[in-house]
Amino acid sequence: PIVLFWFRRDLRLTDNAGLYHALTSGFPVLPIFLYDEDILTQLSSKQDGRVQFIHGSVTALDTQLQELQSSLLVRYGKPLEVLEELVQQYAVQAVYANHDYEPAAMKRDQEIAAFLETKGIPMHTFKDQVIFEKNEIVKEDGTPYRVFGAYKKKWLATLSDASRASYPTARFQDHFLKTVPFRSLSLEEIGFEASQTVSFPASLVPEEIIKTYDQTRDLPFLAGTSRLGLHLRFGTVSVRQLVQQALQLNAVWLGELIWREFFMMILFHFPHVEHRPFHLEYEHMPWLNNEDHFARWCAGTTGYPLVDAGMRELNATGFMHNRVRMVAASFLVKHLLIDYRWGEAYFAQKLLDYDLAANNGNWQWCAGTGCDAAPYFRVFNPEAQTKKFDKQQEYIRKWVPEVGTASYPAPLVDHALARDRALKTYKAALSTA
Ligand code: FAD
Repeated sequence: PIVLFWFRRDLRLTDNAGLYHALTSGFPVLPIFLYDEDILTQLSSKQDGRVQFIHGSVTALDTQLQELQSSLLVRYGKPLEVLEELVQQYAVQAVYANHDYEPAAMKRDQEIAAFLETKGIPMHTFKDQVIFEKNEIVKEDGTPYRVFGAYKKKWLATLSDASRASYPTARFQDHFLKTVPFRSLSLEEIGFEASQTVSFPASLVPEEIIKTYDQTRDLPFLAGTSRLGLHLRFGTVSVRQLVQQALQLNAVWLGELIWREFFMMILFHFPHVEHRPFHLEYEHMPWLNNEDHFARWCAGTTGYPLVDAGMRELNATGFMHNRVRMVAASFLVKHLLIDYRWGEAYFAQKLLDYDLAANNGNWQWCAGTGCDAAPYFRVFNPEAQTKKFDKQQEYIRKWVPEVGTASYPAPLVDHALARDRALKTYKAALSTA
C-alpha cells in the first residue's frame, strides 16, 4: 500500500504543505506529475517558456528524488484518465495534493475526487500557494472584501507565527517510495521544443533588492523587483518563506504578496470575472476593437515610446515591468478603446509569470471595470509617466533604439483627443447601464 502525492503548482520538495501531510501519512509516498494534455494542447506556440520552465523544474525534482532512491512518476494525458490507470496499477490508499483556486482546476479536482471516492480512495488537499485562502480573510459579516486596503489590514491582523510557519518536509524524506528511476518525458515528447532565447530569473533574490524595493520598484530601467512571479506561479518557491523575508526586510514588498492573494480571493469568490467585468455595468462598453490598432499595440509600434518599449520587452523576454504593464494596459483600453479582454489574452499568451487571477485583476484594475479599480476617469498619460519613471529614457532606448528617428512611427492617436474620447465613452456607457 502507498499514497500518491500529486505535484501541480508546488514544484518543490521543501516546505510543501500537501507533501508534508503525505510523507507523514504512515504510507510510502509515490510522487507523480501529470502533463495535462487539455492545457498543453491549447497553447499556441511550440516554444512556450512556461512549459519549458515546468519541464526543467520537473526534471530537477526527479533528480532530487533519485538521490533519495525514489523517482518522480511523470505522465502525459488527461489527469482523470491517468489517475484511473494509476489506481489500478498501485494499491493507492489516498491521493494528496495542494489546493488550486482557478475555476478550471477546481472543476478538475472535484471530478477526480468524485472518481476516487467511487474506489474508496480519499483525496486530501491542503493550502500551500497562499497564506490565506477562500474565506479566511472576510469582513465581519462574512462577505468577501472588495477593497484592497481593508483586505490588507485584515490580512496583516490575522497573520500569526503559525500561518507562516514552514512545513519540515525534509525531515521525512526517507518516506518516499523506494523505486528504480521511472522513464522521464522529454520536452519534445510532450509536444514542445526549447527556445534558445528564453531565460528564467533565479529563485533566490538578493536581499538588497527586497530591502530597497520601495525606492526602486517603479523604475523600469533598474532590476529593482524580485522577478519571482514565475516561481510563485509554479511553486518553485514557498510563499511562507517569502512572507517571512518580507516581514524582516520590506513592508511595501509584503504588500505586493498581499495583492497576489487579494486577486486570488476575488477570483475565488467572484468567478464571473474570468470572462466578464467585476462591475457588470461595464459589460456593454462600446469598444472600438480596431484590429489594426491592436496589432500595432502587440508589436510595440504605437508611436508611444513607453508603451512600445513595454510591449517589445514582453515579446522578447516574457516579462514586462509592472509600471509599464499599467501604462501599456491603460493605453490599450483607454486610448484605443479596445476591450481589456483582448489585452488580457495577449498577456496570458506571453507572460512567463502569467497567472489568471493576477492578470485578470490587474487588467480590470487598469480598465476601471474591476474591484477597487482605478476610477475610469484616471487615464495614464504615457509621456508624463516617462518623465516620472524613465526620465533619461534608458528603458525606452533599450527596447526602442530607433526612438526619435524618422523610422519611428508617429503616434497612433493624439493623447488629449483619446483621453477625451475615453472619458465620454465610459461616462455614456455607465449612464445607460
Ligand atoms: P515584485 O514586484 O517583486 O512583486 C513580488 C510578487 O508579488 C510578484 O512576483 C507577484 O507574485 C506579486 N505581485 C506584485 N504585484 C502584484 C499585483 N499588482 N497583483 C498581483 N500580484 C502582484 N502578476 C502576475 O503574477 N501575473 C500576471 O499575469 C500579471 N499580469 C499583470 C497584468 C497587468 C496589466 C498589470 C498592470 C500587472 C500584472 N501583474 C501580474 C502584476 C505585476 O505586474 C507583476 O506581478 C510583477 O510585475 C512581477 O514582477 P516581479 O516578480 O519582479 O514582482
